Amino acid sequence: MSTGSEVAPSWPGGARFAFSIFDDTDRMTLENGRPVYDVVTDLGLRITKSVWPVAPDGPARTGGTTCEDPDYVAWVQRLREVGHEIGFHNASDHPSARATTLRALDRFAELFGAPPRIGADHVGNHEAMYWGPKRLTGIRSRAYTTAMGVTRPYRETTQGEVPGSEYFWGDLLRDRIDYWRNFTFGDIDTLRACPHQPYHDPARPYVNWWFASSHAPTVDSFVAMFTPERLDELEQSGGACIAYTHFGMRFVRDGTVDPRVVETLEGIAQRNGWFAPVSEVLDHIRAQRGDDGGPITDGQRRSLENRWILEQLRTRAGSEAQRVVKRVRREPDPWAT
Ligand SMILES: [Zn+2]
Repeated sequence: MSTGSEVAPSWPGGARFAFSIFDDTDRMTLENGRPVYDVVTDLGLRITKSVWPVAPDGPARTGGTTCEDPDYVAWVQRLREVGHEIGFHNASDHPSARATTLRALDRFAELFGAPPRIGADHVGNHEAMYWGPKRLTGIRSRAYTTAMGVTRPYRETTQGEVPGSEYFWGDLLRDRIDYWRNFTFGDIDTLRACPHQPYHDPARPYVNWWFASSHAPTVDSFVAMFTPERLDELEQSGGACIAYTHFGMRFVRDGTVDPRVVETLEGIAQRNGWFAPVSEVLDHIRAQRGDDGGPITDGQRRSLENRWILEQLRTRAGSEAQRVVKRVRREPDPWAT
């Protein structure tokens, strides 16, 4: 059984750290996606781009192109051919009942040759897995709900893991997808923030392996996370960064990639890192750890949840301010992570 390794793994090719990105597809179109992926690809970075396989069953929530657009999907297929991974961001940009999720998973496999290996829930989708207070366990779940309830509005409980719900698809997730995202942290070294990842949690059994990520949801936070100083820190820790961001949100304006983004990506790519899609990084960590995927222990889960709660409470004032700005701009809520 795994106890999880606290020692940084070694990385292929003598690299000093691992780096990847999970790109949430919110707002992405062919027009605003292609320029940034051209830069990423030319620099030799390989990352994970998520998709919505099918059109929404109702009004789109955040906007962005789905794989029902032929030009868009042809481009995504080319991204896969040049070494990027394609991930699942639920069926679409709207809550999806089970039948739609099933159709989306089948469609994904048709389009990309195999089921998705990895994914993350889209904000506001009722089929999200173990979301809201269900991300936390026991007393921590209740304490967090109370603490956050003071300032946060009531959020509908999600039902992806609830058998009998019209939104249930936990069995499909378990049978088809290896990795699903849970906590995000401010630390550039995701492995330091969540040293046991990827991990199985027996209390949330429909997810085979949870992974964490480093929280860089906007172009500004992305640029701020990867300064030379912070990259030095990642190199020194020897860990792995799995950045969670939204390339579709203002990384490209009027067809031009934000110059700060180009500089940031160049600063990453010129370092001695291992640049691979998220599933490959997680596979490698498991192989290095040499375990068969034993479950996270109660103590490990407790310390992970506590670390996340403390970070949430510490940054809550900032998040609230951002939520207000978001409402004014009628933006989607990239901080709801
Ligand atoms: Zn999303």
